[in-house]
Amino acid sequence: MPRAVVTGGAGFLGSHLCDRLLKEGFEVIALDNLITGSTDNLAHLLDNRKFRFVYYDVTDYLYIDGAVDFIFHLASPASPVDFHTRPIQIMKVNALGTHKALGLARAKNATFFLASTSEVYGDPLIHPQTEDYWGNVNPIGIRGVYDEAKRFAEAMTLAYKRSHEVNVKIVRIFNTYGPRMRLDDGRVVPNFIGQALRGEPITVYGDGSQTRSFCFCTDLIDGFYRLVTSQETGPINIGNPTERTMLEFAKEIKALTNSSSEIVFEPLKTPDDPKQRKPDITKAKSLLGWEPKISLEDGLRETIAYFSGRLTR
Ligand code: UDP
Repeated sequence: MPRAVVTGGAGFLGSHLCDRLLKEGFEVIALDNLITGSTDNLAHLLDNRKFRFVYYDVTDYLYIDGAVDFIFHLASPASPVDFHTRPIQIMKVNALGTHKALGLARAKNATFFLASTSEVYGDPLIHPQTEDYWGNVNPIGIRGVYDEAKRFAEAMTLAYKRSHEVNVKIVRIFNTYGPRMRLDDGRVVPNFIGQALRGEPITVYGDGSQTRSFCFCTDLIDGFYRLVTSQETGPINIGNPTERTMLEFAKEIKALTNSSSEIVFEPLKTPDDPKQRKPDITKAKSLLGWEPKISLEDGLRETIAYFSGRLTR
């Protein structure tokens, strides 16, 4: 039975990854310091004998008993709100945490998987974004703490491959949504759905012309799984290429929730808010046979049901 360590295992994506790995017959050890993750996301797994949760800060020395075959490094605050409130933790977990997780991979002769991000492209000047684009990042902007830390993490990951021959995998994750996102995480999906369900104004930042492309969480995890079971290293973009403006998105959420909320405009929270973002997934399709399957409408209905349940609790 393969044994995997998932850092950030109590987070939104980390917990969905734990589910998938257990389903595939893995034994899973989830590590999390719970600054943005929650054990609620793992409550359904705590009785599973193949699963273990360990409260742990992965910026500290990492010790895991016994054999480890895979290390999935997902730990990191990832919401733009966190860029304001947790800039140092973001830099530490992506720099020190990546170093520790790579060291563990080397010591255990395990495959290392890095959850990187479309933010490595910054405010992109080419559209859609292909993996060979080097990006347009402001290192000293508010987003720089995340963008540069993930760029460092990618460089460190490839340094371990080149210097120590660690088997590594890198995905660049584009906007992803689904159950287990935090309602208060400040990102557009929980914000719009929460506001629509509560009948509060739906806050579009800027003029709402900026675009994003949203992938449902289980589709994304399927891309992860295909990458780790392939011969590829990446980086590979995983995301849904169906693009929309934030104003269109606000209207879609309002309609799907049957909400009477009004749509209001507020100033952008960060001046370097990317104006457009859409993955080119040619590589994922041709190298991994992956493409997203869940439509935005189906994914949003499931997410809205999840948030409704949390609001009425
Ligand atoms: N956004 C918005 N209203 C909100 C929250 C976010 O209009 O209440 C916009 C934000 O300015 C950005 C997009 O939605 O252009 C996606 O923001 P998110 O925080 O989800 O993540 P990002 O893709 O910027 O990392």
